[in-house]
Amino acid sequence: MLNVLMYSDELANFEYKPSHPFKPMRAKLFLELLNRYGLLDNKNQKVIEQQPLVEELLYLFHSREYIDLLKKGERGEFTIEMLHAGLGTGDNPIFRSMYQTALLASGGTYEGTIMLLNNEARFVFNPVGGFHHAGKGHAEGFCYINDIAVTISDLIKKGQRIAYIDIDAHHGNGVQDAFYNTDKVLTISFHESGETLYPGSGFENETGIEKGMGYNVNVPLREGTDDEVYLFAFESIVPPLIESFRPDIVFATIGCDAHKDDPLAHLNLTSNGYKSITGIINKISPKILAMGAGGYNVFKTAALWTLAWAIFCGLEPEDQHIGLIGGMMYGPEAKSGSLDDLPFILHGREKELCFMQAEKVLEFIKENIFPVHGI
Ligand SMILES: [Zn+2]
Repeated sequence: MLNVLMYSDELANFEYKPSHPFKPMRAKLFLELLNRYGLLDNKNQKVIEQQPLVEELLYLFHSREYIDLLKKGERGEFTIEMLHAGLGTGDNPIFRSMYQTALLASGGTYEGTIMLLNNEARFVFNPVGGFHHAGKGHAEGFCYINDIAVTISDLIKKGQRIAYIDIDAHHGNGVQDAFYNTDKVLTISFHESGETLYPGSGFENETGIEKGMGYNVNVPLREGTDDEVYLFAFESIVPPLIESFRPDIVFATIGCDAHKDDPLAHLNLTSNGYKSITGIINKISPKILAMGAGGYNVFKTAALWTLAWAIFCGLEPEDQHIGLIGGMMYGPEAKSGSLDDLPFILHGREKELCFMQAEKVLEFIKENIFPVHGI
């Protein structure tokens, strides 16, 4: 079966505004790295240009009032209601093509999922996707349209069971809110604790309501958390839950802002951690819809996505220029860097505190979530 990259230059080239940290051009760098490392050569790898989402699908999650505001904003109108809906702020500026761009990004996630559903592909990656903060009636955290909530809502209607795994450094609050009362979606978010990072939510005791009780899993980690602590928590929590839930499709939000060099968050993951995490996701998932989400160190994000792509496709990156894995400058823009990082290990009291936090959350989950799933 195919491995598909959803990509278009149009989407990779847009910009919120020059000073904004969210840079869709990461997708272009990612494409360059995939070519450089020979990861698109095989006949099983395919690049598909995404189409805009059909507007009607938006209303599976978003309110009509909010979508009308997005359209008005795109036409250059401005009203006070927009500010109330999070539009026109520093995080979510109003810009030309704002609505069309969001439709195109969401179209990639939706279209990719349909390919999985039809068994045309086993793995699809939509790098300009994963807008996990957008709410039903508001923009938030660089996110206007929640491609994840819209697409999963449609899949539930089609009778699918969906697991959502979010490794972006920020809590996936928009997705949590969308499926908080249903047992059709298992939502798992690993993130830096809301005590130190936006959006300030995502604590372990947010476990879902009504039928959804026990189907919303949050793993808030202490700032500074390194690969070792992260993997300890991830390995203990994610495989048993996924094995018990038996999803048809796994949505994976591969945000790269948990990397130690990210300027917006404070976790300490390296490429080694990311490779192990994506390796686990790959092993436990029947089909995977991966999305790019955050990641504000542009070159590192492109490198981590490249490594994730290789793992999901079962390929080894090989630098076509020198025939070596890693250890090479990539692209004329890069001042330094290779795909792989050196190990980074936290020591001393800080490490102890990170472990204590992860253990506390794990205990809570074992007591309150695992029993719901018969674990
Ligand atoms: Zn993020």
